[in-house]
This record gives sequence, structure tokens and C-alpha cells, in this order.
Amino acid sequence: MSASKAHIEPGRLLINGQWVDGSKTFETVNPATGAVLTSVVEASATDVDHAAQAARQAFADHLGPWRKMSASERGRLIWRLADLVENHLPELAELETLDNGKPIFESRYVDLPMVVDVLRYYAGWATKIHGETVNAFESAFTYTLREPVGVVGLIIPWNFPLLLACWKLGPALACGCTVILKPAEQTSLTTLRLGELALEAGFPAGVINIVTGGPDVGKAMVAHDAIDKIAFTGSSAVGREIMRGAADSLKRITLELGGKSPNIVFADSDIESAVKGAINGIFYGKGEVCNAGSRLFLETPIKNQFLEKLVLRAKKMQPADPLDPKTRMGAMVSREQIETVLGYIEAGKTEGAKLIAGGNRVTLNDGKGFFIQPTIFDEVKNDMKIAQEEIFGPVLAILAFDGLDQVVELANQNPYGLAAAVWTRDVKKAHVVSRQLRAGTVWINTYGLMDPSLPFGGYKSSGFGRELGQNALEHYTEVKTVWMNLG
Ligand code: NAD
Repeated sequence: MSASKAHIEPGRLLINGQWVDGSKTFETVNPATGAVLTSVVEASATDVDHAAQAARQAFADHLGPWRKMSASERGRLIWRLADLVENHLPELAELETLDNGKPIFESRYVDLPMVVDVLRYYAGWATKIHGETVNAFESAFTYTLREPVGVVGLIIPWNFPLLLACWKLGPALACGCTVILKPAEQTSLTTLRLGELALEAGFPAGVINIVTGGPDVGKAMVAHDAIDKIAFTGSSAVGREIMRGAADSLKRITLELGGKSPNIVFADSDIESAVKGAINGIFYGKGEVCNAGSRLFLETPIKNQFLEKLVLRAKKMQPADPLDPKTRMGAMVSREQIETVLGYIEAGKTEGAKLIAGGNRVTLNDGKGFFIQPTIFDEVKNDMKIAQEEIFGPVLAILAFDGLDQVVELANQNPYGLAAAVWTRDVKKAHVVSRQLRAGTVWINTYGLMDPSLPFGGYKSSGFGRELGQNALEHYTEVKTVWMNLG
């Protein structure tokens, strides 16, 4: 394994513009080597309370420094943060790879550049958020204001740590909210470094607070009265808990949850492109991707030919040192995650699916790293566990189909609805299927493309609310209607 030159300080909490120690800490580990990277604070309920009070103070309706700042100044600060991230891009990319196990190729050329783009996209929005005048009556002047929702708790998963933090941070700050940001306990390091860059950028104290730790920290945020909204990305199970927890206070919530996305290949598609799309769809990010194309539907006439090419490519894509720029398959994020994935592989075998590639843990680095082979199951039935549940690993389920109607029905027979893809040369068929699929994003003849300007989010158990694009702004603002009597 390549040696990293990174010197990583122990993590602290960012509360009210100050770095503070916590009373409890835990170790964060490099999943490729099992080596301890550093220690991170497990924030207490009191720490969360201090962060919430600091965020409240900085918001403080019209009196806080953040509310007094013009939209243009807010936008400039977000842009400055983007510049600082860009200036530190190689360092942040390496830190992300060390903490998460994803290939440096992905951190450096996908995650981090998109962090910069997302921050800049929302920096531009800061000056363009406005209400409207509505001429309903001659005798009244009526208009709407779009006001920040207030203090927002951002709860982030471990698969795209800094990127998903900034998907929320960008619109929250652009809308004038103050935030308490909680990274996942497995991957806190880039978020903490972002906190340092935010201070350097000049954000007023209390606008961005960072609390690290596990589920209890998230629960304390959901329960806190001073927090107006929770923006959550993570599993559907935790999403449901958050929804229940937010019910009493009627906190606003947006939930970006799990997925089991169908990737549908018709017989008339460009097979070479579709094979590459299928590989990228499931094995990018080690399959620890919410929109992974984990169900591959192949039309019967091309199935065998397609699988031959697919298996060949999967076998070439063996896991290796995440810091090596040539690596395309890194380490799973944690021991728990690799055990979950291996459990699903066993379930696939037990339920009668046919293992045609991978299926095993890979021993690299004296067996201390959490590596697993790209895995493909053929002859999967739609009611099997590996066809219905989110595995969140590099495991692909192949299902055969005959014709449009059958595949739409099979694809929609799943609790999730995050994303889908369709491969065909028939334009009409592509659009008909896109309309019939119950999913928040549909890709045609490609897989996994994202852009800050295009909304992303789920149908059904994949959550609600949309991130990215103009749509995200709706979820960080309230609309106020003002009536002025002119009579
Ligand atoms: P997770 O739900 O276990 O944890 C996510 C975050 O929630 C972590 O910060 C965790 O500490 C916190 N948390 C855990 N329990 C909590 C509770 N009871 N109350 C409040 N906070 C709590 O998810 P994970 O394992 O980190 O991430 C994987 C999941 O995230 C997958 O299901 C994946 O599909 C989903 N995901 C969705 C998207 C999307 O955009 N839809 C993107 C990435 C990941």
C-alpha cells in the first residue's frame, strides 16, 4: 500500500467559531489498512445544545450577523470557501480516500471537483432568491417573501462525505440559514477540514457548526427545539426514525434515502456502451452508492452475449490500494459494511441465484483491509432478498425480461424509487419507459451523471424533497405572504 504523507490532527468540535474538545473520543480507521488515522470527538447532548444555541444566535431572526449580511456578501463567502476547497483539493481528496477507502481517482476527479462546483452554483443563487408580487386585488398590495427556514441540522452518511455535506451546506447558506453539520462517524475528517477552511473564508461565528459522533448525536439534533429543520441523507430505516422524531416538534425534514435502482437494457441498445454503463452503475464507489444500478434487467435475446462481456470486465476490476491512481475498486468503508455485503452474498446463494463473478473477500494488506470482489449473480428472481433490499456494495443482480411492459412492472415492484436507467436505440421507447418508472432520476443511454443544477432525490422509500438545482432552495426557505390594505 502507498504510504500517505498526511498528518492528521485529532478531531475537535466546531462550535460558535471555536474548536473545542469533547469529553469522549473514538478512533477513525483507514479501511484499506485497518490503521487508526486519528481520534474524533463523540459529541454529547450538551455539545449539540451549545452548537444549536450558537447557530440560533448567529441566525437570531433579524439581529444575527448572518441575517444582517447582504445576500451578495453571503454569496461571496460561499464562493471563497469553494476557492479554498479548490486550493486544497489534492489534500482533501487524499483525506477522503484515507477515511472512506474510495479510489483516489474518484476523490480527486469526481467528489472534490463537484464539491467546488456545488458551492459555486449555490454562491450564485444567494442573490437570486426572492418572492413575488401578486396582483390579486386593486385594494391590496400583496406579495410573498422567501425567508430562510432558520437553524438547520445536516446529517450526512459516509459514502460521499464532503460532497453530500456540501449538497446541503450550499443551499442552506445561500438561503441564509445557519447550520449544525454532523458527518457520519466513519468519515468525519474532510468535514472537519472544511470547518477550518470555513473559518479561514471568514464565515461569522455560529453560522457553520460541526459536531461529530454517531447516531446519538443525530438523535440529539432531531430532538433539539432550537433546530428548525433536519436535512438527512442516509438509510431508509434511519430516515423513518428521523421522521418519527421530528413529528412532535413538526420540524421540517428532507430525506435522501436508499435505493435499488433498475438498469434496463433492451435488445436494441448499443451493447458495448450498455456493458460499460452497467459496470460503472454498480461498481463505481464500490457499490456504496445510493443510486447504484444494482438490478440489471437484460432483455432475453441479448442476455448471454451481454453477460459474457460483463463478467470479463468485472473480473478485471479487482480491488487494490485506494491511493494508487490506477485503482478503480477501493476498500469497503468498515468491517460492519463488508460483513453486511458478505451476508447478502450468502443470502443470494441460499435463495438459488447463480454466482457468476466474485463473491469473496480479498486479502490485501495482511487481511486488514476491507476489500471485496466485484460480484454478479445471474438467474435472480424479483422476490429474492438480493433483488429487493439495498445491499450497498459491489453486488449486481441480473434479471431477464421480455418486452417493455414486463420490465416496467418488474422494475417498479420494489420499495425504492431513487434512480433508473434505460438503454435502447428506440427514442420513443426510451421516453415511454422513463415516464412509467417510479424514480426520481432516469438516465437514458448513460448511468450516474450528476450536475449541481439538476435536482436529485427519491420516490417511495427513497425519501422526499430534492437536493441540488433550484428545487433545493425551496427546502431551506419558508414563504411568507404579506397583505397591505390600499383601500
Ligand atoms: P445511516 O442511515 O446509518 O447513517 C447516516 C447518518 O445518520 C450518519 O451520520 C449517522 O450517524 C446518522 N444516524 C444514524 N442513526 C441515527 C438516528 N437514529 N437519528 C439521527 N441520526 C442518525 O446511513 P449510512 O450507513 O451512513 O449510509 C448509507 C445509506 O445512505 C444507504 O442507505 C444509502 O442509500 C443512503 N444514501 C442515500 C443518498 C441519497 O442521496 N438518496 C446518498 C448517499 C447515501
